[in-house]
Amino acid sequence: MEFLHAQLAIVQKQLAFVATDSYDWKTYVQACSWTVCLFESYLLLRQFPLYSKTAPPPALAEHFAPDVFQKSQVYGRDKAKFALFSGLYKQTIDSLLLHIGFYAWAWKVAGSIIRKLGYSEEYEITQSIAFVVVMVLISTIPSIPLSVYQTFVLEERHGFNKTTPALFITDLLKGWAVGFAIGAPFLAAFLYVFKWAGDRFIPWLMGFLLSFQIIMVIVYPTIIQPLFNKLSPLADGELRTRIESLASKLKFPLKHLYEIDGSKRSSHSNAYFFGLPWSKHIVIFDTLIKESKPEEVEAVLAHELGHWYYMHPTKLLLASQLHIFTILALFPAFMHAPPFLRSFDFPKQVAAQPPTIIAFLLFQMILMPLEAVVGIIMNAASRHYEYQADNFACLLQDKLKAEEMSDMSDRLGRALVQLHVKNLSTVWVDWLYSAYHHSHPTLTERLKALEAFKSAANKKAQ
Ligand SMILES: [Zn+2]
Repeated sequence: MEFLHAQLAIVQKQLAFVATDSYDWKTYVQACSWTVCLFESYLLLRQFPLYSKTAPPPALAEHFAPDVFQKSQVYGRDKAKFALFSGLYKQTIDSLLLHIGFYAWAWKVAGSIIRKLGYSEEYEITQSIAFVVVMVLISTIPSIPLSVYQTFVLEERHGFNKTTPALFITDLLKGWAVGFAIGAPFLAAFLYVFKWAGDRFIPWLMGFLLSFQIIMVIVYPTIIQPLFNKLSPLADGELRTRIESLASKLKFPLKHLYEIDGSKRSSHSNAYFFGLPWSKHIVIFDTLIKESKPEEVEAVLAHELGHWYYMHPTKLLLASQLHIFTILALFPAFMHAPPFLRSFDFPKQVAAQPPTIIAFLLFQMILMPLEAVVGIIMNAASRHYEYQADNFACLLQDKLKAEEMSDMSDRLGRALVQLHVKNLSTVWVDWLYSAYHHSHPTLTERLKALEAFKSAANKKAQ
């Protein structure tokens, strides 16, 4: 531990200038956020001409009826137009808020709110919670019309929307209530760890964040998800038998097998698993069950179990711990830095003793370029894992000595095509757009890889 703190002290020394020198951090953040936003707009513009293509890629030609392909192109174009507009709109608002000193204003408002409630400004944690509430409420209001448009115009026009206005409003309110019920105690504990551990907060805070993530793994599906969706045990039948037998052959600790009413809001469909290492739950969307044959859903689950077998969620969790550690290791230099807060319009008396929440929020904005790079790397890792999980499904015939699984690659391929066709997903994707945005390989890439996995697996099985 001493070694760790000595190394961290060296990093802090390199960054000591933040606490003493004045820089125009605000302009830096404006420049970074506009760069990211314009780059994302550029990616959309690269993607745009692909929506004018009149035929799918040759590998997919047999799966797409011409009118379905045409529909997916129109849907893709509509979504891209919407993404272009909403990206620029949100960035303009964020940029304006930053320009007028919104964060300093929200901190002041939070101060007067807690004074009305009878707390003095010494209650930094209470004021921080009020600050986040003010900030979240005010900054999400401008994006509500966007989600209304997306749900009731865009998705509706293409036949995906199942959300009623009443459901939309209750979802929004429930989302805020759940956010507050979890967010407020989380924030209080987060800030308390800083206060309590002083300069040596890193190991404590990492321990706290990790426990929080683990608690959420338990709480989310059992308490939060049921607030929004209904999970019911999957009915007995061929599908249930197939999945249970697959899970037991792979020694997957399956505790519950659920069907979720995803179709309540949207007809996009999928499947996933979650839980602790010794007790896992599988959830399948009712839409997937309706649209695919049991043996195809089984292949989708074989893919999902591949993620489990190769411990992808654990690896991603470790990567996120490394990411958090890097952020926390850089943070102390920005924690007690009056000129840093001054450059974001905070008054002298606030900047003199920076509230931790403010310093952390502004520090997050400074990290924007780093976060963009991390996002690209994480997407690349995730795409790699998708291929691995697809390959896992193909290797099952050999691994389980199960002749009947020799067509796993075809079944998975059919299910993927089916999902793609039903969701009207885009089939022509620009490589740079895909590298930046996609956590999954494109359908064409996956089908091509599945072919290769299949022939390799068949050779192995012979
Ligand atoms: Zn996957």
